[in-house]
Amino acid sequence: MQIFKTVEAMQQALSEWRQVGERLAFVPTMGNLHEGHLSLIDKASEVGERVIVSIYVNPMQFGAGEDFETYPRTIEADIEALQDTVDGLFLPSSDMIYPDAPENSTRVVVPHLSDILCGEHRPGHFTGVTTVVCKLLNLVSPDFLVLGEKDFQQVAVIRRMAQDLFFAVEIVTGATIREADGLAKSSRNQYLALEERQLAPTLYETLCEAAERAKNGEELSEIESLMTQKLNNVGFRCDYFEFRNAETLNKASPSDKQLVILAAAYLGNTRLIDNITVTLR
Ligand code: AMP
Repeated sequence: MQIFKTVEAMQQALSEWRQVGERLAFVPTMGNLHEGHLSLIDKASEVGERVIVSIYVNPMQFGAGEDFETYPRTIEADIEALQDTVDGLFLPSSDMIYPDAPENSTRVVVPHLSDILCGEHRPGHFTGVTTVVCKLLNLVSPDFLVLGEKDFQQVAVIRRMAQDLFFAVEIVTGATIREADGLAKSSRNQYLALEERQLAPTLYETLCEAAERAKNGEELSEIESLMTQKLNNVGFRCDYFEFRNAETLNKASPSDKQLVILAAAYLGNTRLIDNITVTLR
């Protein structure tokens, strides 16, 4: 694996690979790599001849009072985990991504999709995401961009950006990797205290229960209230628990068949998100 700390070094390698017809699959991350990230890397090596991963904790996507400073940074372990599996690791600095500070940077805004669900509760978050992904896509110019369905809304927002700005990149997604008890793997799980960790799988359990109830024909809005109550009763603080159209992320209407159930909830200071898709007959 080559480690690139400058754009020039990275682009030199990329152009050599491209010259011999090798296609590039790119996996952007914030590091602290776990099996979820590694599954995306497997996916990337299925579609591209070369795999490049970036690690960058992007300040623009964190709100005031969020965990930018404390976000787990484990670069040595990450390098170790990637060593034999990827071709390149891109480690941009903030001076490179935001030469004049994030607040002075040009932004990439995807309206509407960035303002609902997580966007409503974390204003500016998705603009931070689309801005950094746009910058990374321009620097890397990959053939494939590999993203996790764990962040379902993020995929929708990035898809829309790529479409609107004519990025010639194919977006490939990977399924959510979970702990044995169902909790979606996430770098933020390590913030959970022991008791919180024991409660955390309830989030996925309520999503599965909601899907079953929807398949049995129960009213979606009633399921949403019931599951929100259930989460709050066991000790979560639910931001939202909603059925949406899996394609548009609009509120689910009775004629929609392909749905996604999205949930975000706090356990203590830790905000967990998860989702599952459901097909109704
Ligand atoms: P992050 O480092 O949290 O920004 O995530 C980088 C990429 O990994 C994103 O595309 C995430 O959706 C994806 N990802 C995070 N957690 C998981 C998981 N448990 N399973 C699959 N993909 C994941």
